[in-house]
Amino acid sequence: MRKFIACLGLIALLPLVPMPGAGEARADEVNLYSYRQPFLIKPMLDEFTKRTGIRVNTVFAKKGVLEKIKATPGAADAVLTSDVGRLNDMSEAGVLLPVKSEILAKNIPVQYRHPDGLWFGLTMRARILFVSKNRVKQGEAASYEDLTKPGLRGRICIRSGKHVYNISLIASIIAHKGEAASRTWLEGVKANLARKPGGNDRAQAKAIYSGQCDIGIGNTYYMGKMQTNRKKRAQRKWAASIHLVFPNQAGRGAHVNISGAAIIRGARNRANAVKLIEFLSGDFAQKFYADQNFEYPVKPGVPVSPLVKSWGDFKADTISLAAVAKHRRAASKLVDLVDFNNFTKSSKN
Ligand code: FE
Repeated sequence: MRKFIACLGLIALLPLVPMPGAGEARADEVNLYSYRQPFLIKPMLDEFTKRTGIRVNTVFAKKGVLEKIKATPGAADAVLTSDVGRLNDMSEAGVLLPVKSEILAKNIPVQYRHPDGLWFGLTMRARILFVSKNRVKQGEAASYEDLTKPGLRGRICIRSGKHVYNISLIASIIAHKGEAASRTWLEGVKANLARKPGGNDRAQAKAIYSGQCDIGIGNTYYMGKMQTNRKKRAQRKWAASIHLVFPNQAGRGAHVNISGAAIIRGARNRANAVKLIEFLSGDFAQKFYADQNFEYPVKPGVPVSPLVKSWGDFKADTISLAAVAKHRRAASKLVDLVDFNNFTKSSKN
């Protein structure tokens, strides 16, 4: 068991229930791998069990789920991820089972699910601009394209270009504008960096607060996490120093990503796993799931939390995330090609 835990980069031991060995499938359970953290999903899974009598055995992981699925087919029925990239990797690896469900088709807009039912988005977030309240004029940066403007030289900070969130953003630009234009864009952003790409999304807000840069790129929910952080009160100051700019509102809309779910090929409790994903796409879970992490429900008509609402409404890019995901590999190559992560002060001129 210990070895199994280590190889999955497990983040929580307490809520873990060991999965049954081969041949121990039970009619009243479903086995789940989750990249999403216990605080986000445990109460929903408990509610699912209360309503259906189906027990959910969950293994929480930070990495390595695809490898685990390949090594032990049938050990788990479904997987929850925190971004579309991992779902895409799994569908390309051929380890997912297509699902046809009228409930999922009704609850989840077509751009947030795989065309063949290989994966389904459950919450949505936008990748937007964190902008200094004091040092950036209104309209100075209103689009992803604006980030290459000469006036922003030395003023942008961002996490690694190789991070899944940035790969998705770059893939969306390739989907809209092609590889050549995307390369020019990425070179333009690199030329405007204030420092070497690094840290997480919140670290970019911190850098703006401390004056290292004026504009960062981050996911919307990190604003909520900073604004409400009880343990790390400094993060409230970082959040107070920025405001959110939803890019490309006059055009295609802000790039969005999803957290989602999929059924694993070889699932022994397939029907239960489908029921679970359907439950997660319904009104109760949608509201709870999105609220817990300051995300947006994918199901139309489900309200966002008051804090998320305070950031204002925005127009989301409606391009299919499956179409965007096709360009992830090309996006990763572009990051290498322009040597994006090797920015140094001297390469800024
Ligand atoms: Fe995140």
